[in-house]
Amino acid sequence: MHMRNHIPKPIIALTLATFLLVLVVLASGQSGAPASSCADCPVWNKTHQPFRVYGNTYYVGPHGLTSILLTSRSGHVLIDGALPESVPQIVANIRSLGFRIEDVKLIVNSHVHFDHGGGIAELQRLSGAKVAASPWSAEVLTKSGVGKGDPQFGSIVPIALVPRASTLRDGQTLRVGDIKLTAHFTPGHTPGGTSWTWESCEGGRCLSLVYSDSMTPVAADGFRFSDSREYPTAVQDFEKSFAFLRSAPCDILLTSHPDASGLWQRLEGRQSGVRPDPLVSPNACKELAGRASEQLRRRLESEKAR
Ligand SMILES: [Zn+2]
Repeated sequence: MHMRNHIPKPIIALTLATFLLVLVVLASGQSGAPASSCADCPVWNKTHQPFRVYGNTYYVGPHGLTSILLTSRSGHVLIDGALPESVPQIVANIRSLGFRIEDVKLIVNSHVHFDHGGGIAELQRLSGAKVAASPWSAEVLTKSGVGKGDPQFGSIVPIALVPRASTLRDGQTLRVGDIKLTAHFTPGHTPGGTSWTWESCEGGRCLSLVYSDSMTPVAADGFRFSDSREYPTAVQDFEKSFAFLRSAPCDILLTSHPDASGLWQRLEGRQSGVRPDPLVSPNACKELAGRASEQLRRRLESEKAR
């Protein structure tokens, strides 16, 4: 008689289930996914159908992390590269819109955390594009992979490095073909944070677009925005960034995380025929500034108690 026959079936089933669960947990921890993978990464990296935002502006990122393509006859611009594992998706999205990654001439970013800047090195390699960034972000992109003074220093993984990046001035306008893209330094979330503005036209109607960097006071354990020695200007930096959002001409707001500006609800509205187009919302920048400044206020309040 086999030993096995003495063990009640439910126990065997339970043991087997536990064994399988352990296997699944082990596999998910060592799946060979890039080191930047995080708890939220699989959700952020879900695919999304690329679409035209307005005129020559297209959304080419995955579902949870924005990547924007601006096109011209003499080359394109890409804003943000999402995660390392997002790159194949971004490239395929660009192609499915009828454009080529090889025609991307310039890659810029909002901030150099792994979830927005993680894909830039590979996208740069595939396109041969120039990379331009704020001085703080250029240092991270080319040298350190993670920045000193970053509120999340110690809790985030470094990003893949690019061979070279040119440094931008606050307010500088970059040109590729007839694309004119202006950098606005919006520090706070990181010391090098950058938002972007440009115009896109359909027919004769030109709109002001804003790509806002993250405005959230997220930090590693122990970091205090109110009196950080590593980032002493954090609070005034945030105030500068909110002031930018309050004053920027802003017909269409895009954000580094689509959820921060309700992009998917707006798009659903547009696609179901809501008019005027819900993506065109001139108050969206001011509303984002209001939410962000309230978040910072609550964060500073909570730091008083610690
Ligand atoms: Zn970030």
